[in-house]
Amino acid sequence: MFLELDSLIESSTQYGTSPGPVLPPLAFIAATPASAQGTRQLEAHDHGVGTLNIAIDGSTLAMEFHAPGADIVGFEYAATSEADIAAINAAIEVLGTPLDLFAMPEAAGCRLIDAAVELETEDDHDDHDDHDDHDHADEASNASHTEFHGEYMLTCDMPSALTQIMFPYFDVFPNAQEVEVQLVTETGAAAFEVERDAPTLEIGS
Ligand SMILES: [Zn+2]
Repeated sequence: MFLELDSLIESSTQYGTSPGPVLPPLAFIAATPASAQGTRQLEAHDHGVGTLNIAIDGSTLAMEFHAPGADIVGFEYAATSEADIAAINAAIEVLGTPLDLFAMPEAAGCRLIDAAVELETEDDHDDHDDHDDHDHADEASNASHTEFHGEYMLTCDMPSALTQIMFPYFDVFPNAQEVEVQLVTETGAAAFEVERDAPTLEIGS
C-alpha cells in the first residue's frame, strides 16, 4: 500500500517536471458546471409529507427537516399580506425549537445547540417535474412551491437512551400527515414513515 502511494507520488512528480503543457489547476475549476453553485432547486414534494434526516454520531445528533409550506402555514404563494408574513415568521420560530416537535426521551438528555430555519421558494414553476399531477387550482396563477427547511445540531448526554422520538409536530401543524425519516447511526441507515395516527418513531437501541 505504501509502495503504491510512493510510486504514485513519484510518477506525478515526473509528470510535473516533464516538458510540455501542464494544465493549471484553475482550468479544472472553470470546467465545473455552473449549476453546482446555483440556488437550490426544490425537489417535487407531496403536500402533507415532510422529510426528516437524523444522523447520530456519538453524543452529537444532527437533523435536517423539510416540509411543504402547505403543511406548515397552509399556503405556498408568495406572502404579501401582513397576516401571511406573520404566519411565516411564527412558523419559523416554532420550527426553531425542534425538541418541541420531535420529542426525545428525557433520559437521553438531548439539548439543542444550534438551529437554522428558512423558507425556501421555487419561482421557476415550469421546471416542476410533475406539474400536471399537482393540484394548483386554488392557488394564484403565479403559484410556486415553498418549503420550510430546518437544520439542527443537538447534543445528547445519553444517546443510548434515544429509543424513540415522538412527533407532537402533528399536533402543532394540523395539515401535516406524514414525515419520512432517514436515520443514520454508526451501525447503519434506516428509513421510516411516521404518520399522524401513529406519531412515534421507534428507534430501538
Ligand atoms: Zn407544493
